[in-house]
Amino acid sequence: MSLQGKTAVVTGSTSGIGLGIARVLAKAGANIVLNGFGDAQGAIDELRCLGGGVAHHPADLSEVAQIEALFAYAEEHFGAVDILVNNAGIQHVAPVEQFPVDAWDRIIALNLSAVFHGSRLVLPGMRARDWGRIINIASVHGLVGSTGKAAYVAAKHGVIGLTKVIGLETATSNITCNAICPGWVLTPLVQKQIDDRAAAGVDPQQAQHDLLAEKQPSRAFVTPEHLGELVLFLCSEAGSQVRGAAWNVDGGWLAQ
Ligand code: NAD
Repeated sequence: MSLQGKTAVVTGSTSGIGLGIARVLAKAGANIVLNGFGDAQGAIDELRCLGGGVAHHPADLSEVAQIEALFAYAEEHFGAVDILVNNAGIQHVAPVEQFPVDAWDRIIALNLSAVFHGSRLVLPGMRARDWGRIINIASVHGLVGSTGKAAYVAAKHGVIGLTKVIGLETATSNITCNAICPGWVLTPLVQKQIDDRAAAGVDPQQAQHDLLAEKQPSRAFVTPEHLGELVLFLCSEAGSQVRGAAWNVDGGWLAQ
């Protein structure tokens, strides 16, 4: 399908899942606004070769003023935001009673509140044009819990609730809002959890094997490309009556 003439903002797209989704949308012809920390030049150069327009804004999405600056920039640069992929997210692992308060606040701000702010900022333009897609990268942890991930699990459950509300509030329009719930994807966010196990004395290969074996029956990682192709489907006409859904792509994690 072609997304030529559409503009997508993909938050947290300088690495991992966000970059994978941005690649798929760029291949389909969309203009892309990348966001995230670190060196974005490699991603910008790569996506520009695919033909659409590419821009990057380094907003820290835990700050409301910076979120507003990102969306103002995207609209100014490309004239509209048609597709919003709320992807940026962070993790911190600790039991509740030892969970650092500042880590809780940072995770709720980025993983949950930024999804609300981005959505409220793009919806007026989407309603004016009567077309839009808001796709929230939640997690299996939006549907089930795991020990040590209090803030992440709370935020991701919140994202799925917010997705349902926006899905209902836009139900009679050509705007849809859905969540995708990945299982393990081998990105820097998950590599850190493998490294932490290795630092505790487990062989790195064994640490990776254990991580998969504990939760993901396929024993294989989901890839950013798998998720990008689902985003593309949700942007298509065939996906236009998927509304307020939380769609797991998890190697069987939630079937257990
Ligand atoms: P990642 O660490 O590879 O990428 C995170 C991105 O977010 C990076 O571009 C980073 O620069 C950006 N970012 C971090 N803090 C930011 C901030 N304050 N403001 C703006 N950008 C910021 O992580 P990932 O694994 O690709 O995760 C992407 C999303 O997918 C997250 O929401 C995560 O919860 C979700 N997810 C990941 C997995 C997995 O197994 N990797 C599974 C389920 C859900």
